[in-house]
Amino acid sequence: MKVDSKSDLYRKLPSVDELIREAPLSQLIAREGPVVVTAAARTVLSRFRDSIAGGEFDEESIVHALSGLAANVVEEVRQASKYSLRLVINATGVILHTNLGRSPLTSGALEHIRNTAGGYSNLEFDIESGERGKRDVHVDRLFRKILNARVGTAAPGCPGEQSSPEVSTIVVNNNAAAVLLALNTFAEGAEVIVSRGELVEIGGSFRIPDVMAKSHAILREVGTTNRTALSDYESAINSNTKLLLRVHRSNFEITGFTQRPQLEELVNLARRRNIPLVEDLGSGSLFDLHSIGLRDEPGVLDSIHAGVDVVTYSGDKLLGGPQAGLLSGSRDLISKMRANSLFRALRVDKLTYAALEATLQAYVKQDYDSIPALRMMRLSKDEIRVRAEKIAGKVRSPQISVDLIDGDSVIGGGAAPSAVLPTCLLAVASSDFSADELAARLRKSDPPIISRVQEDRVVLDLRTVFHEQDDSIANAFMNL
Ligand SMILES: *Cc1c(COP(=O)(O)O)cnc(C)c1O
Repeated sequence: MKVDSKSDLYRKLPSVDELIREAPLSQLIAREGPVVVTAAARTVLSRFRDSIAGGEFDEESIVHALSGLAANVVEEVRQASKYSLRLVINATGVILHTNLGRSPLTSGALEHIRNTAGGYSNLEFDIESGERGKRDVHVDRLFRKILNARVGTAAPGCPGEQSSPEVSTIVVNNNAAAVLLALNTFAEGAEVIVSRGELVEIGGSFRIPDVMAKSHAILREVGTTNRTALSDYESAINSNTKLLLRVHRSNFEITGFTQRPQLEELVNLARRRNIPLVEDLGSGSLFDLHSIGLRDEPGVLDSIHAGVDVVTYSGDKLLGGPQAGLLSGSRDLISKMRANSLFRALRVDKLTYAALEATLQAYVKQDYDSIPALRMMRLSKDEIRVRAEKIAGKVRSPQISVDLIDGDSVIGGGAAPSAVLPTCLLAVASSDFSADELAARLRKSDPPIISRVQEDRVVLDLRTVFHEQDDSIANAFMNL
């Protein structure tokens, strides 16, 4: 192509000002503002100049291309104003998937956020007295209903009945912050005894020894990786011991020649020596997991009933709420943590309180099916299979093979690491694409579908897919 004809082509391009005066764009400016539209127009024009420079146009084709210029700008604005944080469909079968935002919120939580966070609220205001209030009250009252429920079920005043101390709860940003706050409050500059078998690393660089160092507590390791006896704790106690810490192993198990004291034994030791016992439960369920066959995942109530002084757990793991760190325990100890200036730095905002209050309300009502993570855990393999068959029927074609195979969903989020929930998987292969290519195409659909690749097939687990998203999955395969 001749050089002078290229400069003729450049001359055909409108200026940015001319371009944004075209009809669809002047309307777009009214909606999106001039800054956004002008930037998009610049991007589109500079892309055109690159194409001319690359010799992609001649006198004829550029006329046709230029007629679509305004439409290109409209599309550019649409792309540029997309949120980065987006809804995705989780077909991985990992219920509490940290990379996918852990637990989805209940519809009650979303509604409560909408109703309170768009305006002013009584976050720290006592409506009755007209005076300053505390933000914790909104959830502490519900935690009390849930956690004090089964404590001391015998009638008050019964001979021999010990009144259990009232349990109160405070909220911080996440469970890592909860552990930090507990260690710093009770053991700054002093020793904390932890079993070597519990010096865990949870994903996202939460390591107990590192949190310990940041809290200015001194780690006193006892026992060995696989075996720690009560006597190991006992002989490590000295005048500078201010805390016993028990950590849930969350994402791994130690099997074989193992030993660790019963929780009750640790509680007794802590009482005898007058040292508080804090347990980092990690997931910390408020729901009786035994009822769905999960035996080994301790609940918050189990620990409180056993006599643990303070338990720490996440809001967005098995509890099924927003990201938060919960500290539940005896009133004195909780007050001490509330008085620590770190608590102010780690506090959470009204969105979290709103979401947490609504989620806890569901527990009080025992409306477990309204909590997505719990509902997903309770889905039977048969219910999942029926949905999988329906999708398979729509998707099967000469190019796409679909098998239903047995598999396991996992809870994730460091809960019950060895527990698996039997499920029915869709295993899909295409004659046109490799499994990796197929998975990549699913991620490009809207909303993106996140699947797994296993033995040259794309595998989808509907346990973590909301029922109303099943059609999106079928459509994504049909529009490959
Ligand atoms: C998940 C987990 C944590 C970290 O909780 P976040 O809420 O993610 O900060 C800490 N300890 C244990 C045992 C866990 O399972």
